[in-house]
Amino acid sequence: MDSLKDFIVNFKYLMPALGKYKKAAQKSMLFTTIETILELIVPSIMAIIIDKAIAEKDLGLTVKLSLLMIFISLLCMYAGASATRLAATTSTGFGSNLRKISFNKIQEYGFRDLEYYGSPSLITRLTSDIQQIIFSVFMGTRFIIKTLVMAIVAVTLSVKISRNLSLIFLVLIPLLVLGIFALTTRAIPTFRQFRKEFDNLNQVVQENLANIRVVKAFVRNDYEIKKFDRQNQTMFKIIDKGAGFMSFITPISNLFMFLSIISIIYFGGKEIIGGLIGVGELMSFVTYAMMLLGAFIGISMVMMQMMMSSPGVVRVAEIIKHIPEMDESLAQEGQEVEDGSIDFDNVFFKYDKSGENFALSGVNLHIKSGETIGILGPTGSSKSTLVQLIPRLYDASSGRVKVGGRDVKTYSLEELRAKVNIVLQKNTLFSGTIAENLRWGNNEASDEEVIEAAKIAAADDFINQRDGGYNSVLGQGGVGVSGGQKQRLCIARSLLTKPKILILDNSTSAVDTKTEASITASLKKYHPDMTKIIISQRMSSFKDCDRIIVMDEGRIEGIGSHQELYATNEIYRKTYDIQEKGADE
Ligand code: ADP
Ligand code: MG
Repeated sequence: MDSLKDFIVNFKYLMPALGKYKKAAQKSMLFTTIETILELIVPSIMAIIIDKAIAEKDLGLTVKLSLLMIFISLLCMYAGASATRLAATTSTGFGSNLRKISFNKIQEYGFRDLEYYGSPSLITRLTSDIQQIIFSVFMGTRFIIKTLVMAIVAVTLSVKISRNLSLIFLVLIPLLVLGIFALTTRAIPTFRQFRKEFDNLNQVVQENLANIRVVKAFVRNDYEIKKFDRQNQTMFKIIDKGAGFMSFITPISNLFMFLSIISIIYFGGKEIIGGLIGVGELMSFVTYAMMLLGAFIGISMVMMQMMMSSPGVVRVAEIIKHIPEMDESLAQEGQEVEDGSIDFDNVFFKYDKSGENFALSGVNLHIKSGETIGILGPTGSSKSTLVQLIPRLYDASSGRVKVGGRDVKTYSLEELRAKVNIVLQKNTLFSGTIAENLRWGNNEASDEEVIEAAKIAAADDFINQRDGGYNSVLGQGGVGVSGGQKQRLCIARSLLTKPKILILDNSTSAVDTKTEASITASLKKYHPDMTKIIISQRMSSFKDCDRIIVMDEGRIEGIGSHQELYATNEIYRKTYDIQEKGADE
């Protein structure tokens, strides 16, 4: 029952997905009503044929009524087929809108939101959860109205034939509904669990495929297969248990069908003998009983389907209801980033809001527009965290981050991220041609601009050496170029967005020092006004930097020019000595 409540409570968040299919839904229900009424007329004609036409040996009337019955049946078929067709359009249209709404919503999510759900779960929600919901919408559109009409009309007509006989329904129908409910409510928890395990299976497969090279390199196929088998087996057990409960539904329904036929014939027979009703009437009564029970079995199925999809409804509603971490409520319309200056005023940040560990503590930092800044620090010292606050990939827990002299929150995310471009440490390309990949950040870039960006990023040469050059095709995730080449393409892609601030987070780690030097020199020459932040483990990356920031354990330990830091900062001096002098020896 809880899951039915979940379904109803959460379904209202999905309702906007009905959109233009509302008309189809209404038409489907109208046709269903017509179909049901026609279906109910047929048995009463049959009763007249038997009790009047045949009993009075009127062949003409028999033929006339039979023809009428055929005509009504055909009409009924037409109405039924139309209703089904429209219900299918409604439900699939609803599903496709729902996918679109959810997908669009996910695009608004920040990093933290995405980490909360995890991509395997988001994939299951958008695919199989929505598929379940589509089925519920179909069943709902088709059968809820049918059952209602059928119940009302069939009961009215049955009572008209015999009040006493109708009492049978009063006993049998509640019992039937109760029986089916008892079974479904036991099966439901298994469905909910199934959704969760589906996520897990997805995760196993996704992780395997995404890292297939590592798996092969470590020859861990067997291990992966075992992991998959375990998950697959878990799912089998759960669904098998659910199916065990469900397998009783048809036999129970049949049992009630037979019980009602037997009791109707028994009690009805007595009424015929007593002269209260005719044989034809008894026959139509049996038909009504079948229809009524059928309708109740139908509605139970609808409810069952709703319960089955209710975990999915809850999960999809969750996506839609979710308020993304990055709110744009403070954004001022049309506010543009005027220059590439950056300020951190006493910034603290932690990833886990309820946790105690700060990834950044008391950061104060002022970068002038057009400066080139290096960031040095051991792994885990929060270099990446620091720069991710600038384009609002995360928001500071306290303190203020400013770009162009204004709080980052006063810009729309679109404007801010267009002007602050970050080449992430874990970056990726997409399947498609190199030119498509480079234009990904800026669709309008001309061929000349694309080539210029590639030249600055020292990518032009190797692109030209490939068959097809800029039109050569990359596989999913940019398969087909080396690590260092991929990094250079990512830099070129970022440059094409024409940012005011460019952040390179270990973006040249796989590029040799000579090429790296040519990239930084080109950046300086062709983009003198752009603020550049370069995170690197290599001292050589900082050659063109105006100032260098030294980070340790989420704090800024020092900031200054090479000479200043070498004289005053121990981490800097040690790192420099190891790298430069070590290289000399
Ligand atoms: P760096 O870039 O200097 O190597 P990071 O900024 O990536 O360091 O990480 C700083 C700290 O924050 C590390 O302790 C790391 O474990 C933690 N951290 C980084 N990213 C996340 C995340 N998405 N969720 C939780 N903790 C994170
Ligand atoms: Mg990092």
